[in-house]
Amino acid sequence: MRLVDRMTQHPPTCLHCGRGNTVREPNIPDLDLMREVNWGDSTYICGSCVMEAAALYGYISPEQYEDLELTIKSLREERHELRAQLEKKQRRLSAISSGREALRDERKERASA
Ligand SMILES: [Zn+2]
Repeated sequence: MRLVDRMTQHPPTCLHCGRGNTVREPNIPDLDLMREVNWGDSTYICGSCVMEAAALYGYISPEQYEDLELTIKSLREERHELRAQLEKKQRRLSAISSGREALRDERKERASA
């Protein structure tokens, strides 16, 4: 098997959908199965049908991959910011608890004196 920009052997059409060499967006290469059927006919599967088959196996398109990467990057940045906020609040809470404990100890010391 190999990827090709154009189906050049006869018949230059997709085995699944029958589409020929047409301009498609996004431009996805076609798959040449490099096998002959019916005494010399070529075997191609167009890029769209390959992507459709890949989706059946759970693969995602390059566009979906880019979208997911952007989402992951955004979520990581958000997580980083939230962790920083949490650590800041934990330090403040720890300082408040220490101060309250010191005050309680001081009051006990004065009451017993
Ligand atoms: Zn096709």
